[in-house]
Amino acid sequence: MTTSPERVEAEDLRLREWVRDAVSDGWLATATYPGHESITTAVRLSKEGWGAQAIIRGNPADSISVWGPDRLTVLVPIKYSWETLQEGLTTCQFCHKRNTPTVRISFAGRCCTECRAILAPKLEYPGWAS
Ligand SMILES: [Zn+2]
Repeated sequence: MTTSPERVEAEDLRLREWVRDAVSDGWLATATYPGHESITTAVRLSKEGWGAQAIIRGNPADSISVWGPDRLTVLVPIKYSWETLQEGLTTCQFCHKRNTPTVRISFAGRCCTECRAILAPKLEYPGWAS
C-alpha cells in the first residue's frame, strides 16, 4: 500500500496538534532520544502516571501510542481529549465495548474479558513473546 506525501503531511499535522494539545493540558514532553533526535520528531509525554510516545518523521508509519497508569494501551482519539483517554481505560480495543472491565492481551493491549477468551489462544500461542 502506498501513502501519498500529502496524506503523510496531513497526518503529521494532526499528530503535532495532538501533542501540542496534550502539552497545553499539562502533559510533560521530553525527547525520546535526547541528544540524537529532535523532540519535534520523537517525543515522550507523561501526565499523572499516563504515558505516550509520538513519532512524527514525515513517514507513513508515524503514530502516537498512549498507555494508562496500568501500563496497558488505550485507543487514541483522533483529536486529543483527556476525557476520551480516561474512557479508554474501560473500553475494549477489539470490540470497542465501553464501560467494561478490561484486562491485558498480548504485550500491552487492552480488551474486555469476552474478547480475551477469544483472542488469547490466537495471540498468545506458545512462544508468542519470544
Ligand atoms: Zn471486547
